[in-house]
Amino acid sequence: MAELVQRYLDDLVAEYAGVSDGALADYIPELTQVDPSGFGLTLSSSDGFLYESGDARTEFTIQSISKPFTYALALDQVGEDAVDAKIGVEPSGEAFNEISVDDKTKTPKNPMINAGAIASVALVPAAGPDERFAKIRDFYSACASRPLEFDEDVYRSEKATGSRNRAIAYMLDSFGVLADDPDEVLDVYFRQCSLRVTSADLARMGATLARGGVNPQTGRRVTSTRVVQRTLSVMVTCGMYNAAGDWVSAVGMPAKSGVGGGIVAVLPGQLGIGVYSPLLDGRGNSVRGVLVCRSLSERLGLHFLTVGRESRSTIRAIHEPVERVRVYELHGDLMFAGAERVARIVDREADEFDVAIVDVTRIDTINDAARALLAGMSADLGAGGKRGFVVDPDRIVIRPDRGYDDVVFGTVDDAVVSAQRVLRANPIG
Ligand code: GLU
Repeated sequence: MAELVQRYLDDLVAEYAGVSDGALADYIPELTQVDPSGFGLTLSSSDGFLYESGDARTEFTIQSISKPFTYALALDQVGEDAVDAKIGVEPSGEAFNEISVDDKTKTPKNPMINAGAIASVALVPAAGPDERFAKIRDFYSACASRPLEFDEDVYRSEKATGSRNRAIAYMLDSFGVLADDPDEVLDVYFRQCSLRVTSADLARMGATLARGGVNPQTGRRVTSTRVVQRTLSVMVTCGMYNAAGDWVSAVGMPAKSGVGGGIVAVLPGQLGIGVYSPLLDGRGNSVRGVLVCRSLSERLGLHFLTVGRESRSTIRAIHEPVERVRVYELHGDLMFAGAERVARIVDREADEFDVAIVDVTRIDTINDAARALLAGMSADLGAGGKRGFVVDPDRIVIRPDRGYDDVVFGTVDDAVVSAQRVLRANPIG
């Protein structure tokens, strides 16, 4: 049931709560003022349902997680050719704040390092810095489903100490990459980095990318699938500072981290994940954020190179052969996201039945996460005074040695007969 997913998240947060490795970013002095123990995790399904755990509503500055979103906005507004003329898409292998451009093109190597991010800001068409910032903020807010606020203190702190970014902006200006005044562009960049988000916002923003540019909560299309595809591509190759290779191998989701302690991760078509924990490792990524994402990916089978064929409509049919007995026929491939959707629908309809029969006869492939969710449903329904049966002739969900023999049936008819027996023994009301 939905609580099972919730429990997954709560258990993960509890598991890593004691990890206190890492350090707060200190090159922006104001960032040393945050509570180092903050720890929030949010997962958004592709239809916008949120699971939140820990400090999921604690605000922190978005910092570099802003980069893919401003890049997406620039692509959306001026198109790929104009963006590609100013920003490359190659991983740089250099520090995020390296004062460098590509040897040949004299443009930033990619939009996830500061040089590329500052160039992205300048590409957003606007009459002046205020309008440009308003457009950027509106775009992020449309992805997050709420108006994002701005952190004046962090902004001032970064502006007062941002010599390195100033050097980058002036270098870009000297190569003709910025069409506008470098100080004005930089000011907007500092402002965008100082927008405040929560892990829930990041999960929603991630889910908007997961849905190809449609915010699942508001139903609004904020950009095109083409823009999202390009944005996710650079997140895969360059999103995690110099740990992009490790990240893709171990976690396998397009992602972006920021020195404020946030990470957004996206499983295309399926999920958006937001994590917050401000203690950073040597590469600038949140220590607990990386641990949590690794575990989520492993335990729920989320690596994007293994989760191939998730059927969009996992539930083939729902019917009620006898009163208060509801049959859910599943089909296709069942991975975590599909099983989560089934669990949630059964959960939502639980008032309308006494026995739920989940028929997995037509499932082609199932993974451990989906198996655990479906098996757990039966126990959870029992705890809520209902019964949950599984029609599983090949025992793909509940293996024969698990001691659930009384809830597993070979055919729907057998399950219905048993359900009627249960109802006769315990008449409703
Ligand atoms: N505002 C920060 C900077 O430009 C963002 C860095 C980051 O999160 O990587 O230095």
